[in-house]
Amino acid sequence: MATQHSSTPVVCSDVTRQYAGSTDRLGTSGTTVTALDSVSCEIAQGSVVGVAGPSGSGKSTLLHLLAGLDTPTAGEIQIYGTALDELSSREQTAFRRSHIGMVFQRFHLLPALTAVENVAVPLVQAGMSRSERRSRATKLLDAVGLGARHDHRPGSLSGGEQQRVAIARALAADPAVVIADEPTGELDHETGEQVLDLLTDIAADRAVVIASHDEYTLSRTDRVIKLRDGRRKS
Ligand code: ADP
Repeated sequence: MATQHSSTPVVCSDVTRQYAGSTDRLGTSGTTVTALDSVSCEIAQGSVVGVAGPSGSGKSTLLHLLAGLDTPTAGEIQIYGTALDELSSREQTAFRRSHIGMVFQRFHLLPALTAVENVAVPLVQAGMSRSERRSRATKLLDAVGLGARHDHRPGSLSGGEQQRVAIARALAADPAVVIADEPTGELDHETGEQVLDLLTDIAADRAVVIASHDEYTLSRTDRVIKLRDGRRKS
């Protein structure tokens, strides 16, 4: 694994992502769509960075690339000095699980599992024993203010509570970077505010990236990367 030591959580250099032969914005098929065009950014430790732009501007593409869920057509992404494209796919999966936590608009919790079991899922992959998993997941749920809801399934939790479980799950492996795609999109203002309080708190010793359309959500970040038609506007 090619690891250089860098204290910057995320460095994205001239990243382009094209999709070949897909339908473009005007509905013409067979053209190459440039979802992201030579985008560069750096995200510092302890910061919350917003990613803004209209629908189709490349926000999800950027987030997926930063999370190592997708690979750039050109350019490079480094997480703490490790260039993701220099890892084999097996190394990438292991790296992603230990360094990156994901939070989604629709929570993506497993409905048959309780809150504590959902939070423990990434710890199974990390090879922890059952009792260690339960203990860590319990602590994380306490930290996100869900102490009394450990054994509830997602169906009996409110949207805000489900998003807290999802944040606790994203933190399970103590990742250096947390990436949230429209984390308040399904929540009312007050609940969204609480979720943003939590995302801001957890940024103290990591980097948090939040893609959003919502002005209030973006106002809670330290800095905003603005995208339009796959290019960085500011
Ligand atoms: P946003 O998240 O800002 O709405 P996206 O990153 O989802 O934007 O999309 C950016 C552009 O890339 C859009 O034109 C979209 O249609 C295109 N795109 C995204 N994913 C794919 C894909 N898997 N195949 C083809 N085109 C895609």
